[in-house]
Amino acid sequence: LTREERKQYNYNLTHKIIDGILHKKCNHHFEHFPEEDDWFPCTDKYFYNNTTKSINTDGLHPECRLCTIKKSEKWKREQSDDYNKEKKRKLRALGKENIRTNKNGIKESEKAIREVRQKNGKQLAWQRANADKFKGYREKRELTKKHVISTREWLNCKSYFNNCCAYCGLKLEDHFITRLGIVKNSDFHKDHVDDKGANDLSNCLPACRSCNSSKHTSSLDEWYNENNSAYTELRYNKLHKWLSEDYREFIKRVL
Ligand SMILES: [Zn+2]
Ligand SMILES: [Zn+2]
Repeated sequence: LTREERKQYNYNLTHKIIDGILHKKCNHHFEHFPEEDDWFPCTDKYFYNNTTKSINTDGLHPECRLCTIKKSEKWKREQSDDYNKEKKRKLRALGKENIRTNKNGIKESEKAIREVRQKNGKQLAWQRANADKFKGYREKRELTKKHVISTREWLNCKSYFNNCCAYCGLKLEDHFITRLGIVKNSDFHKDHVDDKGANDLSNCLPACRSCNSSKHTSSLDEWYNENNSAYTELRYNKLHKWLSEDYREFIKRVL
């Protein structure tokens, strides 16, 4: 079949003369009005004019006016449903769905609060189940991990490292924590370089959360070397200089 013949064939399927008048079959009438006859006089009284004439040879919509209206109503409904779903999804993604203001006037995400509570609940359950182990662990940490560093010393220490994490170079102003769904700026850790070492400035470096938890109790050279993605020779030399001599300049200033 040629293109023209195919066109003619399709035309013949949907057009016929009834009582001397050209009729056209509404292709979707059965879906909307299953009881009704789906043949109508082929005029713009029954069919909307079709502006995309390349498809149709009669210049009219393939569906009758009533079906066209039904179809566009359905389309609008679906559109608005989709629109609402999408809007809800986006709001959820932003965590704004259940934002509430706490007694301190801070906005919190209920979902984040739930998650934290669940996590804390599990942690608490674990702590209770391992009470003895946990007690020992905590006591040990508290004994060995207590810094005796003045505010001034700490400020000087951070300033010596240009207010960046001594290990990875992250800037203090770019150091954030997320708590209860709220992102806050957060101070660096006073990292015990030697986990069992001194509690003063001679064993202290400013460390971001990520480096601090990654290092944990490893020794400096075991953890901070060429295999560490944060490592640079420049930073390594600088922190060594601080630990070996430069801290002295600042530790003298204890108030
Ligand atoms: Zn119809
Ligand atoms: Zn870091």
